[in-house]
Amino acid sequence: MQKVKIGFDLGGTNMGCALVSQEGNILYENETETLANESANNILNRIKFLINNSLDNAKKNNYQVEFIGIGCPGLLDTKKGIIKFSPNIPNFKDFYISKLIEDEFNIKVKIDNDVRVAAIGEFLFGAGKGYSNIICITIGTGIGGGIILNSKLQRGPTESIGEIGHMTLKEDGPLCGCGNYGCLESLASSTAIIREIDNAIKENKSEILKSLVEKGEKKGSHMLVKAIEKR
Ligand SMILES: [Zn+2]
Repeated sequence: MQKVKIGFDLGGTNMGCALVSQEGNILYENETETLANESANNILNRIKFLINNSLDNAKKNNYQVEFIGIGCPGLLDTKKGIIKFSPNIPNFKDFYISKLIEDEFNIKVKIDNDVRVAAIGEFLFGAGKGYSNIICITIGTGIGGGIILNSKLQRGPTESIGEIGHMTLKEDGPLCGCGNYGCLESLASSTAIIREIDNAIKENKSEILKSLVEKGEKKGSHMLVKAIEKR
């Protein structure tokens, strides 16, 4: 029986779950919307649903799932398996996610910051393969950073090394999910880009963006690329 692991990406907008081989190949994946404004219980049920689908697929293919790893946004206590505070999923406050998933499936669960696990992934299997010092920057609902020095993931005393999204760049900038104003994330994440697209259309600043939205294009950085190409 082939031993596999479940890798789970819990994002502020979407969540995804994959069966992964020892070599880092994805054998099966499924995803759904996070709908982060809903109750913690509803979000947890969606997480369980995706894991269940993956376990069904594992059973069908005779894979043995030996571990579930969850990449979570925000500040965590990775030893206790708690999401302490997550600006993009505010209802997961002091949330014992590891224990809840472990109790449901009876499989060992470990959580870590989503960007840190992305950094480890790139370091082992992706763009950072073969290097010993890398910085991995992720731009999505928020902006995060993971740092590997001398082949070792850096955490820092409060497990917040690499949280570049919350550097203040503009003191009178927009309110950020963390409560401060003008963080990098509040200015340049995909959430911020969508807000700026909406503002530009509302204030009649861009005919091109307006027509792209009317055509049903998905708002985000890809839309900006298209708008620039059309100029
Ligand atoms: Zn912030």
